[in-house]
Amino acid sequence: MAETVVAVPTLVHSVTPGRKVPKPKNAAERKRRLLQILDELDRLFPDVTCALRHGDAWQLLVATILSAQCTDERINKVTPGLFQKYPTIEDFANVSQEELANDIRSTGFFNNKARSIIGAARKILADCDGQVPKTMDEMLTVPGAARKTANVVLGHSYGIASGVVVDTHVQRITQRLDLTKNTDPVKIEQDLIKILPEDRWILFSDQVIHFGRQICIARKPRCASCPLDPICYAKDKTLV
Ligand code: SF4
Repeated sequence: MAETVVAVPTLVHSVTPGRKVPKPKNAAERKRRLLQILDELDRLFPDVTCALRHGDAWQLLVATILSAQCTDERINKVTPGLFQKYPTIEDFANVSQEELANDIRSTGFFNNKARSIIGAARKILADCDGQVPKTMDEMLTVPGAARKTANVVLGHSYGIASGVVVDTHVQRITQRLDLTKNTDPVKIEQDLIKILPEDRWILFSDQVIHFGRQICIARKPRCASCPLDPICYAKDKTLV
């Protein structure tokens, strides 16, 4: 899926230092603050979805495996040719690891990724009637599919809210916004599952990923353009 470009706020204001923003004092205030965050994400990114181009669940699984340690932009350049060369799961099951690794070389970690993709294709053909599974438990038996990959595929291909995708953007921003104190993605996901309404699990990650690319960027967040500034007490806010 192509990167969704949305209009982000251009109004530049004076950033409130994080230490001057009051922290929520109780559960009710935390809930109110979370709803404000969700409302702003809805306003900024009403129609976003997964940025990886794909035609079906299998292609999304392949693209997600490839996206580890690589940009979605790079993956979207590689996958059209890849899916043209290997149009079926059987094609991926039958290709040699060396050949597939060569095809996906530009995505990095190509030997591991080729092994995972071939293993996933063989597993799905052997044990899942040739269909990408629709449950988390089954997905986790597929080579290359940990929770993040499984959540991406289940959420975007089947509309199944199995959990919350925690990538590097979600990890960083939920920490900055104090929605979690954890650093481990699996624990962050459990924290988010507890506080987010289930019907937000899929959309939340897509919105936060776009928010992380366009506003709350890793090295220098654009706090002066961020509508969450009045409720953000992150220590690494950019004041100028
Ligand atoms: S850009 Fe990030 S760090 Fe800056 S105010 Fe917004 S949420 Fe907070």
